[in-house]
Amino acid sequence: MPKRIGIFGGTFDPVHIGHLRSALEVADMMALDELRLIPSARPPHRGAPQVAAPDRLTMVALAVADLAPLCVDDRELKRDKPSYSIDTLESLRAELAGDDQLFLILGWDAFCGLPSWHRWDELLQHCHILVLQRPDADSEAPETLRNLLAARSISDPLTLEGPGGQISFIWQTPLAVSATQIRTLLASGKSVRFLVPDAVLTYIHAHGLYRASN
Ligand code: ATP
Repeated sequence: MPKRIGIFGGTFDPVHIGHLRSALEVADMMALDELRLIPSARPPHRGAPQVAAPDRLTMVALAVADLAPLCVDDRELKRDKPSYSIDTLESLRAELAGDDQLFLILGWDAFCGLPSWHRWDELLQHCHILVLQRPDADSEAPETLRNLLAARSISDPLTLEGPGGQISFIWQTPLAVSATQIRTLLASGKSVRFLVPDAVLTYIHAHGLYRASN
């Protein structure tokens, strides 16, 4: 049987219940064998994360410790260059059987920014793309993506076939949590309990992360 593997990238600075709940729902709905959370080292599209890579990696590892099929994948932190998704996909593909299915999970905003990504037009050679769409979002895809969507999108994500090449949408109501909000709360000495798993909270406090002086 081909394996079904989802990949969910992010800075995870820190990982929070919004990421985890959303990832679990996708894994469940898509019957994934694995859903890999992949912390990025130097994200090409945003400023440097506040906390160092090993801490972000450990927090994700703690968060998914007992949460199969979620798991953590540290390959982007082992590379000494920006975290390009195409490199990640190529290295994953090199480890998998030819008929294994890869699903790159992207929020709608990230999907709309795709044309600015390094070698973006090669991504679908390696994976399917699952776009997480919010029921309240009404923005249109940019012009460059409209032809691609017309050619490659299918309405039911459960009917995605083969190792890659197609795009589908998953409608989800995300929890209103962001890492930015969590960093702000911590910097002002406020509690983030229930916004991150308890093991992550313990790690944050034990290592003095996200304090105003950091
Ligand atoms: P920041 O506030 O620092 O920008 P973030 O909370 O958006 O961080 P990221 O690590 O940048 O988290 O996001 C990784 C992935 O998780 C992205 O695809 C993003 O769309 C998604 N994501 C972020 N927050 C949520 C949430 N509350 N629910 C579902 N998905 C989320």
